[in-house]
Amino acid sequence: MFSKQAWRLINKANPLVTEIMKAMYYPSKEFLNAELGMNPSYMWRSLLASQEAVSQGCRRKIGDGRDTFIWHIPWLPCEVNGFMTSPMHPELENSTVNGLISEDHNSWDLDIVHDLCNERDNKLIQQIPLPAISRMDSWYWLLDNKGKFTVRSCYRKIRGESGGLEGGFWKKMWSLQLPGKIVNFLWRACQNVLPTMAELVKKQVDVNMLCGWCMLHVEEAVHTLFTCSFARTLWTEEGLHEMTNVDAGMTVKDVLKREFIDGNREKWVKIGLLCWGLWTRRNMWIWEKKPMSVFGVRSMAMSLLQEWQQSQENAGKGNKGMQQRNRKWCKPPEGWVKINLDAACQNQIGEIGVACVARDDRGEFLRARSNRVHGSMQAREAEARSLKEALLWTHTWRKQKCIFELDSKLVVDAIHGDRGNSIFMLL
Ligand SMILES: [Zn+2]
Repeated sequence: MFSKQAWRLINKANPLVTEIMKAMYYPSKEFLNAELGMNPSYMWRSLLASQEAVSQGCRRKIGDGRDTFIWHIPWLPCEVNGFMTSPMHPELENSTVNGLISEDHNSWDLDIVHDLCNERDNKLIQQIPLPAISRMDSWYWLLDNKGKFTVRSCYRKIRGESGGLEGGFWKKMWSLQLPGKIVNFLWRACQNVLPTMAELVKKQVDVNMLCGWCMLHVEEAVHTLFTCSFARTLWTEEGLHEMTNVDAGMTVKDVLKREFIDGNREKWVKIGLLCWGLWTRRNMWIWEKKPMSVFGVRSMAMSLLQEWQQSQENAGKGNKGMQQRNRKWCKPPEGWVKINLDAACQNQIGEIGVACVARDDRGEFLRARSNRVHGSMQAREAEARSLKEALLWTHTWRKQKCIFELDSKLVVDAIHGDRGNSIFMLL
C-alpha cells in the first residue's frame, strides 16, 4: 500500500501533504531521487522501500515538454528503463524535453533527436505521440494499458513478473513456442522442484543420492540437465557446448537466464526442448531401465515439437475460419455511412499506413482513402492514429451520419469515455 502513497507523492495528488513531505525529507530533490537521510521515520523508510518499484513503472507523459528534464526523469516508453541512455552533454544537463520538439509543437524535431540520441533512445522518442493541443507534462503508469496506477501491477513489478532482467526472463520463457508441458517442466526446473534424487532425499525418501547414469555425482537438476556426462555429450553435439559451463552453486534458472539474455528464439526453443528431452530420458532410464542415445533424445524432442506445431497450425486454421465467419461485415442502418479503417505499422522505415473505406446503407462502395504517416508506433497507437485520420477525412462531409468500425477495443473504449491516462490518449 505504500507504493500507492509513493505514487500520490509523485503525482502531487494532495499538494499540501506533498509539500510537507518534500520539506521534511527531500527539500532539494524530487521523490524519485530522494534518499533515506539521517533520521528516517518508519513511514519514510517504508515509502522509500517502494521508490524503486514505483520509479520503474512511472513515466512522464510529454505535453509541451517544458517540465521534464531530458536526462533526469523517466519519460521513454520502455518497460526496462525509462531514462535516456544517450551520453549527456554537460552543458545540456538541465535541458528540458521541449528542446526536442519542433516549432509547430506537435512533432519531434528529428534533426535534433538524431544528433543527440543513440538508436535506442531515438526509436523510443519517435514512439511518443505529442498532443495536438498544448498541455502540461504529467505522470502516467506504464504498466497499465490505461496509464492508471494499480497496486497489483506494482506488486507484480516487485515480484519481477513484468519488465526488468528477471521479468524479461520469465516473459521469454512463458512465451516460448513450445508445448505447454515443456514450458511447465522448464518452470518447475527453474523453481528447483523436479523430483531429483537430491530432492527426494531432502524429503526423507530412502534413495541413493547419486546420479543413476554416471554414478559419480549427486543428482541435482543442474547435473542431469547440464553437467552429467550424457548431457555434456548432447550439448556438445548440438553445438551448444556453453550450456555445460556451470559454476558451483548455479541453478537451472541461472543457466537458462544466462542463455536467454542474448540469442534468438530458435535457440531458446532448442534449449527448452533438449532440457525436456534429457529429463524424459533420465526418467526412462531410472524407472524403466530403458537407455536412449543422444540421437534418440533429439528425435523424440523434435517429433514432439513437430506434432505440436502441426496441431497448432490446424487449430489456427479452425479459429481463423471461425473468426472470419463471426466477423462478417454488416451494413449500417438506413441513412448512415460506415467507415472501416485499419492501420499497419512499418517501424523499420518509421512509417504507419492508414486506410479507410466508406460504404453506404446498401453496402455500396462510396470512397476510400489511404495515406502514410511519419512515425514509429505500437499497434494500438497506430489504430488510434488511423481513427484520427478518418475523422479528419470525414469532417468535410456535410451532415453525414457516420459509423466507424475498427479492430482495437482499447481505442473504442477510450472514445466511449474510459479515457485513462496513458500516452496513447494524447492521440
Ligand atoms: Zn550423472
